[in-house]
Amino acid sequence: MTSVRTLVPTGQLASVASRRVLQSLMRTGQEARFVGGCVRDCLLEIQAADIDIATPLPPEEVMRRLKADGIRVIPTGLKHGTVTAVIGNETFEITTLRQDVETFGRSARVAFTDDWLADAARRDFTFNALSLTVDGELYDPFGGVADLTAGRVRFIGDAEARIREDVLRLLRFFRFYARLGKGPPDKAALSACARLAPLVTTLSGERVRDEVLKLLATDRAAEVWRLMVDQGIMEHVLPQAMAVDRLAALDRLEWMVGETEPLARLAALLPGGPLAHAAAAAVADRLRFSNFQRDRLAAIAAPVVDVHPNLPLKSRRIALHRLGPEIYRAVLLLAAAAMGTPAFELFEPLAEASAWRETPFPLRGQDVLDKGVPAGPEVGRLMGEVERWWIAHDFQPDRDACLAELGRRLAC
Ligand code: ATP
Ligand code: MG
Repeated sequence: MTSVRTLVPTGQLASVASRRVLQSLMRTGQEARFVGGCVRDCLLEIQAADIDIATPLPPEEVMRRLKADGIRVIPTGLKHGTVTAVIGNETFEITTLRQDVETFGRSARVAFTDDWLADAARRDFTFNALSLTVDGELYDPFGGVADLTAGRVRFIGDAEARIREDVLRLLRFFRFYARLGKGPPDKAALSACARLAPLVTTLSGERVRDEVLKLLATDRAAEVWRLMVDQGIMEHVLPQAMAVDRLAALDRLEWMVGETEPLARLAALLPGGPLAHAAAAAVADRLRFSNFQRDRLAAIAAPVVDVHPNLPLKSRRIALHRLGPEIYRAVLLLAAAAMGTPAFELFEPLAEASAWRETPFPLRGQDVLDKGVPAGPEVGRLMGEVERWWIAHDFQPDRDACLAELGRRLAC
């Protein structure tokens, strides 16, 4: 493989830590290169999410050398040839070159190799098969630079065969198309994706989650999600998340009033009304969400209090108190997206949400106990009653007034 041009490594690729790792691996003459996404992102002049390095050295040798040079190393995936080097707050995934070993016509086994081209050929898209040496030689065996410039997301080899090897590539196709694509998607790739979509159900929730959230974080999420719905693909990925019109409307509002988060975009895709809660739970199950993600999705998709742009002031303050400003903001945007509210009508309520400072409820459980109520569920019930009264009075009553109200309730 000969290098096609030079590219000056920038960002983390040019850090002191990077050089230390590469020097350690190259000490006895073997080459080590940056590979995959971090080279693509360097070309695009954006910061890479993570740094991958490839080397012909076997993983045990990689570990031995890094340790000998005083670099912390974690055997993150020794079986697959991957170790992680850690220097300060920088990490590097170092993987031994691999190639597929054909068995009975199917690429079933992987072996370590010193063949850079074979390693590049196992990667998914032409622009993900780039590699870069520390002194700036760029290797591009499948025309990835030209594809990147033209916005073409192109599989290396036959799309259908590559997706059958690893179905995650189907989702990666749409994620990269959303992020980097220009013009219509590659025809062969799109029809292979449509044909093989039912296989997505065999993927683990964690892998689908990462791709879905990355897709939703792109500027073209709504457009690409619509493409996946129209191609009959989304029904195999997240059949609950088909409300693309609402996502598109949310996008237009975001453009005017500022970004929301991928979870709010996901919530926009779910059915509204009484079906929202079950849909949010099903999506959280499928994507193996953390409890935090699960609760947040449900809080936005099926809010415990109704929010819309024309609420009177008192109801807005109650909603802000119950939802907190972040969820309130997301729920408000979603409601506005569903109702077709123009963005300018949202400026004031959104500013109000940003300025919102929670008034803490002035009573504690101890105050109820001090009034002689025995510890138990009655304490919580009374607290809840007085809090509702306090909210109904627009958060105005102070501690003395709340204590007096508690006394009145105890007297009845
Ligand atoms: P991101 O910016 O999200 O990190 P990435 O392309 O770097 O995107 P990684 O998951 O970090 O994705 O993978 C690093 C590289 O490994 C890719 O650029 C690609 O070369 C290769 N790769 C990752 N996943 C696959 C896959 N499922 N099939 C083939 N190659 C893959
Ligand atoms: Mg990466």
